[in-house]
Amino acid sequence: MKRIGLVDVHCHISDQSFEEDRDLVIKRATDVDVVAMISNSENLEDAKKVLRISEKYKGIVFAAVGVHPIDLLTYNESFDKIKDFIVSNSKEIVAIGEVGLDYFYGRKEREREVMKLFLKEFSKLSRELDLPIIVHSRSAGKYAIEILKEMEVKRAILHAFDGKVSFAAQAAKYGYFFSIPPSIVRSQQKKKLVKAVKLENILLESDAPVLSPDPKERNEPKNVIISAQEISKVKGVSFEEVVEKTTQNALKLFNFDWILDS
Ligand SMILES: [Zn+2]
Repeated sequence: MKRIGLVDVHCHISDQSFEEDRDLVIKRATDVDVVAMISNSENLEDAKKVLRISEKYKGIVFAAVGVHPIDLLTYNESFDKIKDFIVSNSKEIVAIGEVGLDYFYGRKEREREVMKLFLKEFSKLSRELDLPIIVHSRSAGKYAIEILKEMEVKRAILHAFDGKVSFAAQAAKYGYFFSIPPSIVRSQQKKKLVKAVKLENILLESDAPVLSPDPKERNEPKNVIISAQEISKVKGVSFEEVVEKTTQNALKLFNFDWILDS
């Protein structure tokens, strides 16, 4: 069995900014003991690319497929189009994501209705295919949690959650997880979130290339180590305990035998 390492449950390794040095970025992550990265897609085109990358870096990069709520603002396809893609590739993907609500960019009622509709459909699909769902909820945490609960979603990650701690505590009671990005080092809200939620409900994410510890720099999956260090400080537990717990949580949530097998 491999030594337990860190799991980045949410990144965008298909992003254009990694085109020149993707090999090195992945190597730098595995060098600091990142054992798995889940690359989330933002639209159908991106999903195809993420699948190609996860095939190339088999056993280390894993694919999640969804339509990002901001991409929904310009998405002209039906839900069935992305659904068919997910269903026909369901053996190759480990989660549905990135999906969700973005009320910061989606200001019009009509736009929010489309986001809600898609989140409901993705939630249904998550149940049908028994795949976890990775949810973006900028300025819409409460509403995203309500939909997940209403749709009886069992396995959900709220990534880079920016909502109130009281909503987060409620979602943790439903068994939902919160993935914490390296930008926690400069975010009082994320520190509060980590304080309010038990380690049993916490995961690590990079959201690379964004949410870097230094906002001027491109983020990389290796920086989940910074998330783990900061969580350890905020919670007053050892770094090793944070790594072990968050990886165990990922194993549970994703049925990740592959981390231990590879
Ligand atoms: Zn993201």
